[in-house]
Amino acid sequence: MSHDPTCIFCRIVRGELPSRRVHEDEDFVAFHDIHPAAPVHLLLVPRLHVESLITAGPEHSALLGKMLLLAPRLARENGADDGFRLVVNNGPGGGQEVYHLHLHLMGGPRPWKRT
Ligand code: AMP
Ligand code: ZN
Repeated sequence: MSHDPTCIFCRIVRGELPSRRVHEDEDFVAFHDIHPAAPVHLLLVPRLHVESLITAGPEHSALLGKMLLLAPRLARENGADDGFRLVVNNGPGGGQEVYHLHLHLMGGPRPWKRT
């Protein structure tokens, strides 16, 4: 299924729920995390509903590559110009809360609230 009507990130991507968007293109939407762990904390979300890296497959290779390559541009454009951290939580053991694959992009002046 390309989107799941019960998924909050699908609903944000489709504009059905509000978010503080910083980027959108044909493959991705990026917005501010509502509970930021760093001065800059963005979520980079593919429009396609993929649960996590656990359920991703070779058909997602190009999308995953594009997602990683978009990160430095978003970091630069949003004030994380001194470097950034990327995190992907996967499954219960990884502490994943929203089962729609996403990249946490964190940066900005330290100290951060939590790491
Ligand atoms: P995780 O699935 O563990 O990577 O965490 C999901 C992240 O999504 C958390 O950092 C939440 O603060 C964030 N989050 C949840 N709901 C929203 C929302 N409506 N808008 C922005 N960020 C959200
Ligand atoms: Zn989704």
